[in-house]
Amino acid sequence: MIDVQLADRVRSLPPYLFATIDKMKDEALARGVDLINLSIGDPDVPTPQHIVEAMQAAVVKAEHHQYPSYEGMLSFRTAVAEWYKARFNVTLDAKTEVLSLIGSKEGIGHIPLAFVNPGDVVLVPSPGYPVYPVGTLFAGGESHLMPLLEKNNYLPDFTIIPEDVLKRAKLMFLNYPNNPTSAGAPKSFYEEAIALAKKYNIIICHDAAYSEVYFDGERPMSFLEVDGAKEVGIEFHSLSKTYNMTGWRIGFAVGNAQVLAGLGKIKSNLDSGVFQAVQEASIVALRTDDAILADLRRIFEERRDVMYEGLTSLGLKVQKPQATFYLWAKVPDGHDSSGFVAHLLNNAGVLGTPGVGFGAPGEGYIRFALTKPVGRIREAVERIKKVL
Ligand SMILES: *Cc1c(COP(=O)(O)O)cnc(C)c1O
Repeated sequence: MIDVQLADRVRSLPPYLFATIDKMKDEALARGVDLINLSIGDPDVPTPQHIVEAMQAAVVKAEHHQYPSYEGMLSFRTAVAEWYKARFNVTLDAKTEVLSLIGSKEGIGHIPLAFVNPGDVVLVPSPGYPVYPVGTLFAGGESHLMPLLEKNNYLPDFTIIPEDVLKRAKLMFLNYPNNPTSAGAPKSFYEEAIALAKKYNIIICHDAAYSEVYFDGERPMSFLEVDGAKEVGIEFHSLSKTYNMTGWRIGFAVGNAQVLAGLGKIKSNLDSGVFQAVQEASIVALRTDDAILADLRRIFEERRDVMYEGLTSLGLKVQKPQATFYLWAKVPDGHDSSGFVAHLLNNAGVLGTPGVGFGAPGEGYIRFALTKPVGRIREAVERIKKVL
């Protein structure tokens, strides 16, 4: 038997904060508890039928059975460019300013490998999507956490980042509409970020996974709509949340051609692109009639209303989401994040995610994902009411 030793980069992964909760969840399920699991950011609604049918037609075509190109079929990249034009009035060159990804997580995880040398800094929002700091760690970089606090509307305060950190920073991740806080960002914030990026030569990577999961008819803007954005960065996007296609593994990055070429260098050496049948079905997805998307949004909007009004009526302090399918709620006094999650799990059979799992500034919060039917969400509120 050889002595199997993990590499330092794997050993230095942050501790898995959900282990205790996972164990309690398994125990609850073993006891036969009817668990309402609101901890998973994966929509329960199936992919729209016309997209599934496009996939059925595409999968039989022999030309799709070979290696795809890592950068994506030109027809797919053209559909992305048209989508950006129609959605945001942003003009993109499909050949140089659009890159296909095997889900946006893949691109987010890989981009530090293209631009970050050991010891370089990456500016990372916290609480935030764990892939930003982990991708940074795998590249040997150092994450500098930018706290997202309620008093700043969950926007990072750039003025508190030390000058020497800014000078060493190569990349900055931003994510609006935000997971886990559900906050949005105004144009003025992006302008500030772009000015900072220009001053300190920082590449901005904006994660827009939730730009189409919005409520009250108020569509969030694209980072690329802002003057100067394309000079400093790129935007990551995904079909996962927009079209309920999390299992299909397709996303894309758009914007600065040099930055995309750098990411493409990593990808061409590591992967072989997205299955072309998936790309072909995704062209159909991107051309989906807006009425169908409006119906999908209405499903999440109804759930949001039930959960937001329900928790608020119980006296919990909740951020009302304008987008995303998450609710970010303050835990009641006397609990911390993990303790409150455990309390709800053990006494109400409702599972949320402890805010601290997304980074230290998330302590004191719980995230509920609206990924269960509205009847179950109503029941979750009733059950929480009994144990508060
Ligand atoms: C879901 C999610 C993604 C990635 O989704 P993919 O399925 O990999 O495209 C990226 N960023 C955030 C914040 C997410 O919540």
